[in-house]
Amino acid sequence: MISYIIKILKGSWSLLVGMKVTLKYFLFEKAVTVRYPYEKRKVAPIWRGTLRQLCDDKGEEICDGCQICSRVCPVQCISMEVFKDPADNKRKTSSYTVDFGRCMYCGLCVESCPKKCLVHTTDYAFVSFDREGLVLGKDKLVKR
Ligand code: SF4
Ligand code: SF4
Repeated sequence: MISYIIKILKGSWSLLVGMKVTLKYFLFEKAVTVRYPYEKRKVAPIWRGTLRQLCDDKGEEICDGCQICSRVCPVQCISMEVFKDPADNKRKTSSYTVDFGRCMYCGLCVESCPKKCLVHTTDYAFVSFDREGLVLGKDKLVKR
């Protein structure tokens, strides 16, 4: 009988110790969770989100269509069409497409871009109801 009462007391004590920890966090500690999507956390600048192509100060595309990014991409989700502009005799892209349905956000394309014009954004919530919506072209990828 006595051992039975001791067991009950030990159980009650461990319950009180657990509740003390719970109440301490509930009443005195700052919440570590946020009410997503109403609140959003800031992500680190090195976050690998969707890709963007940067332009120069004049709003001209820096990318010269060297195709290195599409060649290093392990899943071959970057495609582009390249032409030589007779106006300035420079190589340019007439189309540049990334299929984010296949992209694994490895960052190899960004690291290998010799012009440093391909960057990751900090966007972590890019979604679509269909696969076509995950394919972005120059109208969305080039940031002027
Ligand atoms: S992040 Fe990786 S998978 Fe995505 S486009 Fe770049 S190289 Fe390809
Ligand atoms: S590696 Fe850079 S410069 Fe070359 S095609 Fe890709 S984005 Fe353009």
